[in-house]
Amino acid sequence: LCWLSTTQAAYMKYKDPNRPVEARVKDLLNRMTLAEKIGQMTQIERTSATEQVLKDYFIGSILSGGGSVPAPRASARDWVNMVNQFQSACLSTRLGIPMIYGIDAVHGHNNVYNATIFPHNVGLGATRQISSLFRGLIHACDLDPDLVKRIGAATALEVRATGIPYAFAPCIAVCRDPRWGRCYESYSEDHSVVQTMTEIIPGLQGDLPANYTKDYPYVSGKSNVAACAKHFVGDGGTQKGINENNTVIDLGGLLRIHMPAYYDAIAKGVSTVMVSYSSWNGVKMHANRHLVTNFLKRKLGFQGFVISDWQGIDRITSPADANYTYSVQMSIIAGIDMVMIPYDYSGFTSTLTTLVNDKVIPISRINDAVKRILRVKFVMGLFENPLPDLSLVDQVGKKEHRELAREAVRKSLVLLKNGKSAKEQLLPLPKKADKILVAGSHADNLGYQCGGWTIEWQGGSGRITGGKSKQLKTVLQIETEIVNSRYVPFVAGTTILESIRSTVDPATNIVFSEAPDVGFVQSNNFSYAIVVVGEPPYAETAGDSLNLTIAEPGPSTIQNVCGVVKCVVVIISGRPVVIQPYVPVMDALVAAWLPGSEGQGVADILFGDFGFTGKLPRTWFRTVDQLPLNVGDQNYDPLFPFGFGLTTKSRPAS
Ligand code: BGC
Repeated sequence: LCWLSTTQAAYMKYKDPNRPVEARVKDLLNRMTLAEKIGQMTQIERTSATEQVLKDYFIGSILSGGGSVPAPRASARDWVNMVNQFQSACLSTRLGIPMIYGIDAVHGHNNVYNATIFPHNVGLGATRQISSLFRGLIHACDLDPDLVKRIGAATALEVRATGIPYAFAPCIAVCRDPRWGRCYESYSEDHSVVQTMTEIIPGLQGDLPANYTKDYPYVSGKSNVAACAKHFVGDGGTQKGINENNTVIDLGGLLRIHMPAYYDAIAKGVSTVMVSYSSWNGVKMHANRHLVTNFLKRKLGFQGFVISDWQGIDRITSPADANYTYSVQMSIIAGIDMVMIPYDYSGFTSTLTTLVNDKVIPISRINDAVKRILRVKFVMGLFENPLPDLSLVDQVGKKEHRELAREAVRKSLVLLKNGKSAKEQLLPLPKKADKILVAGSHADNLGYQCGGWTIEWQGGSGRITGGKSKQLKTVLQIETEIVNSRYVPFVAGTTILESIRSTVDPATNIVFSEAPDVGFVQSNNFSYAIVVVGEPPYAETAGDSLNLTIAEPGPSTIQNVCGVVKCVVVIISGRPVVIQPYVPVMDALVAAWLPGSEGQGVADILFGDFGFTGKLPRTWFRTVDQLPLNVGDQNYDPLFPFGFGLTTKSRPAS
């Protein structure tokens, strides 16, 4: 008897992996105090995650926001050690509930030095299956969902290699206006393209079991991560593309354009959904009970957890003002389950506790939130395997992943012009020439090539500061940093210049100049020129732009070079930019988006080792006063329409 009672006392149903998930959730929930429940609902930044805080507040989740890294150029092992320490503190609490660590792995594991950096989503939206070449109209089914799925799997593996089980990706925004600073995080202006691209979710989370019923979120295996569809909903529809602003559209429009990708994400078992900073017809999404609870959870049957955006609940009213109680109340009642960085977690905890004790927020709402969080943790095996697996550390930046990224770059390039007439096609370029000019600010700069959300939040800077500051930098500040640090590559990869060097015949003389003047171009006898210009990196609001011009010396480089010698212009940008005035002088024009670390993919295409297959995932406008301009609009008169893209044949290997 004595033996029986000790075994019974030690047996905790929730710790038994043989029990069904829902039984484990219920058992654990019944054992939890209110403080432990609220702790599960709280996600704090790694910089505030001391052992004491983790234990005192029973913290359920930690994140690296933007470029928040444990040390400059931290190795996978450093990351694992860090996560390990946090996790051990959480496991040592009364119930030993593992925390879940999250990070923005939005184009590969982009906070981590040496990780493979894939093209940003806008580039992936341009990729097509080769068979599509022979069809007229671009249709969603011509897309290459398998490619994004493989990218998801590779990203998941690199993220897991650093001990992290949760990625704040994919962004399934349907960007309707390129003036939005986050347009490059969107696959397309067309919802069906975005829907198809949700195939990245089974890549990140693992293949769904055959009997999957969509009744539960799904993450399989130790080499997968929980994904996060963001930002719910209408983030890409704000007026004039102003970040975090108001999306004015009727319910029909919202359901037709911005919602469909969420149907797909849920059907594919997505574990979490992040709420958008933006408002819908004046109501902040963080306070929108109708859409978050009634629609997403009840009508669509989403069973994972809903996470707020970074200090998102604080923005319902202004931070730290007398209405903070109102913000907490509105957001939790709206249906937010986990709060990312409440501006002050202790204030958040005490406010929420009071609201529950005063019965303003029913305990059933708290239980629902915690159930959802625990469900994800149980499903993904965090209770059984809470600690990072050191055997994966070599996966970061591995050769196969770089090859996959290179393939994605090749497929993402869109050829917009090739020759001043059909007879004079410039591409593919000859590999052998006397002397070629490579020009432009973006030809030899990995920071520019990768764009925002790379190492640092806004990308670009070669300095590795080891911490994300959500302070906005001006484009000028970013550019100055980049110029000052250009020769300190902070991403391991290949620039476009390097890739050209390794592709052309060794006898070809390559001259590189960032901003050559006409005299210089005239005085050299170049066979042809490759001009690489575009946008500097940016993220979120700092990227909002009403004029969408490319900064000098971009335009003058195009004029100075293309006016003198045959040239192909490669645009590195997160969106269509003002290009119409310069197109006439160009012999060829390529949209390369933000290709990431594997610049070799650009040379693969320019020199004809592979043919162009990419198609515009967005309408390329003529002038900004046409914006917003989307396929299907009345009076649609773009410079290059949605779906446009010339092709070239690959040159047979000699
Ligand atoms: C962004 C999110 C991101 C979060 C964490 C926010 O500012 O809107 O997309 O996941 O920061 O870094």
